[in-house]
Amino acid sequence: MSGRTYALNSRVLVTGGAGFLGSHLCERLLREKMDVVCLDNFFTGQKRNIEQLIGNPYFEVARHDVTLPYFVEVDQIYNLACPASPPHYQYNPVKTVKTSVHGAINMLGLAKRTRARILQASTSEVYGDPSVHPQAESYWGNVNPIGIRSCYDEGKRCAETLFFDYHRQNNIDIKVVRIFNTYGPRMHPNDGRVVSNFIMQALRGEDITIYGDGSQTRSFCYVDDLIDALVSMMQSRAGFTGPVNIGNPEEFTMLELAEQILKLTKSKSKITHQPLPQDDPKQRRPDITLAKKELSWQPKVSLPEGLQETIAYFQTLL
Ligand code: NAD
Ligand code: UDP
Repeated sequence: MSGRTYALNSRVLVTGGAGFLGSHLCERLLREKMDVVCLDNFFTGQKRNIEQLIGNPYFEVARHDVTLPYFVEVDQIYNLACPASPPHYQYNPVKTVKTSVHGAINMLGLAKRTRARILQASTSEVYGDPSVHPQAESYWGNVNPIGIRSCYDEGKRCAETLFFDYHRQNNIDIKVVRIFNTYGPRMHPNDGRVVSNFIMQALRGEDITIYGDGSQTRSFCYVDDLIDALVSMMQSRAGFTGPVNIGNPEEFTMLELAEQILKLTKSKSKITHQPLPQDDPKQRRPDITLAKKELSWQPKVSLPEGLQETIAYFQTLL
């Protein structure tokens, strides 16, 4: 027996734990003396994201696909398993839907049997190409159900439906967060998302590929801020289910993002334009009033500060 004492609710399952956000979450939970099981099928996750945790006696890795049932005794479940970047979730769209929908059913079934509290990593994509700006949780969204982004958007929307039906029908203790664009170290360098693309292009001296005219906006949250919010949500008062928006409300055009990255990397890369992908949302900014009120949370890291950290990480990959 080690001398370590556990609080109740100390066994935690993190699905998608070898991914970008999942690996930061596992690390944080271990720092908080939790006993962590990381479940991942390594589709977009990487062993290097969690290699520093291997050997920690309170950390276990299970290679498993969340579309199949999983049996474990836990007190909390963070359900993050799902590819998040458009090229990755469009690679096998049917599998993306299964991951969100069957994955939610399996994890909610696990929560039902163990009576674990369960948090769903939902997304700002449930708002689609929003006609309300900024987006508050009360907005029902503007999602194309049959487009190339639908496998992700509708899969996540159906997962939210399942969470709320299990809550109403089986009294499952659910927490739903809608995550807006998040960036930081351990993003996959080739995952096709805008921050990783622009930084890698700038560092390699390649052209910066802006899709469309670059006037579309996004609001970028640094990973440490996001993880604080996930943990606060899991610990929030009984009965507060969300959904709650988590993101940084500072909004930038993609042209502004490219210029900031060029300045910070001192790169000589040129800005080029490529066609805008189908259904690409024109604007996105979270209304975080609810997160401030319920979680006493707001982001602390500015875009230039977060980009510096992220650039330093990508430099180690060159
Ligand atoms: P990521 O691709 O780095 O991580 C996803 C992880 O899930 C990977 O480790 C992958 O291998 C694993 N996975 C995928 N399908 C699986 C399956 N069927 N079974 C088991 N594991 C599977 O992405 P991320 O940015 O870390 O995103 C994590 C979660 O947060 C996702 O659910 C995503 O939808 C959500 N989210 C992320 C963002 C963001 O900006 N990063 C924004 C909104 C929502
Ligand atoms: N984007 C871009 N160049 C790239 C990659 C993405 O201009 O090399 C744009 C993309 O069209 C979108 C925005 O950046 O308007 C954010 O894209 P990302 O894939 O990171 O996230 P999402 O569209 O899911 O918010």
